[in-house]
Amino acid sequence: MQKFTKQELLDIYNQPLLELVFKAATVHREHHNPREVQMSSLLSIKTGGCSEDCGYCPQAARYHTDVEPEKLMSVASVLEQAKNAKANGSSRLCMGAAWREVRDNKDFDNVIEMVQGVNDLDMEVCCTLGMMNEDQAKRLKNAGLFAYNHNLDTSADYYDDVISTREYEDRLNTIENARKAGISVCSGGIIGMGEAVEDRIGLLMSYMEMETPPESIPINALVAVEGTPMAEQKPIEQWEMIRMVATTRIAFPKSVVRLSAGRTKMNMEGQALCFMAGASSIFAGDKLLTTPNPEFNEDKEMFNILGLVAKAPFAEGEQPETKPDTINEERKIKEAARAVKLAEARKNIPADFQPRKVTSVD
Ligand code: SF4
Repeated sequence: MQKFTKQELLDIYNQPLLELVFKAATVHREHHNPREVQMSSLLSIKTGGCSEDCGYCPQAARYHTDVEPEKLMSVASVLEQAKNAKANGSSRLCMGAAWREVRDNKDFDNVIEMVQGVNDLDMEVCCTLGMMNEDQAKRLKNAGLFAYNHNLDTSADYYDDVISTREYEDRLNTIENARKAGISVCSGGIIGMGEAVEDRIGLLMSYMEMETPPESIPINALVAVEGTPMAEQKPIEQWEMIRMVATTRIAFPKSVVRLSAGRTKMNMEGQALCFMAGASSIFAGDKLLTTPNPEFNEDKEMFNILGLVAKAPFAEGEQPETKPDTINEERKIKEAARAVKLAEARKNIPADFQPRKVTSVD
């Protein structure tokens, strides 16, 4: 892969728009089938109440937004949603939990089961669960996780203007932990947060400096949500999205460039230029975690008009094998033993037994 300098990427980004789109389209055609676009679904499996302070995020507990916190979804309802997404043409499911970091608890055990279940549906499974250590990454990998999403969001220089509760370095460590476990990396950013063009290129330079850049790079436009510190940010012009997608495509010819949040503010022509310039995936479904997104049917119509086809899963890598998770297996054995004990104990309760009434909770 060609290594670009920051100045070279800035020159690429700033060249006349149609020149940029043409060059990006040429690179795109050398490495990808330009008619294929992956449809991915993003599901919020645990919403809101997050302790972090990401300035763009309506799920941060400290901001007063319309997001109602919800606890972790059940494994069964996640699998139902996954089947629904697959029936609508999605070949990848990204499950997002509004956590600062993964904790080794029952919720994580359930996420492991979700990953196993979605991988069994022959869909690419991606998770975005906050920071994680190497052992947690290995457990996810064994469960059949295909990709881990952890966005750098912006350049190292602008990062402190966006988030103060964790460091850029923390993010790089989590990405490294996913890599070490053999999980494919999905990492990208958001434009329109008040950053300079240099910061957009700075984000790409962070990936350029990695030994292996992310296999998947989502490019988002800020969806300014009332109650967050970025609520008053002016929406960016769609031309800026096209420039960012095109520059990312030229910088990372083999990666999947995902045209992500902010599509509701773009018209079909703008999105078409993004596909031309190398966007090879969109998120489908009417919600992106908590913010609006075009409906499945609108996207199907757009695909028909533009002659695009939905990409099959695992075109960019092998399907991971799902291995039994020893921690969950042991927990299930313990729970089954407890259930047997409880059933035995119930048998010995006399038929006329009346539980003692609690009259006061003081
Ligand atoms: S982006 Fe993620 S880590 Fe940041 S506040 Fe939102 S849910 Fe929390």
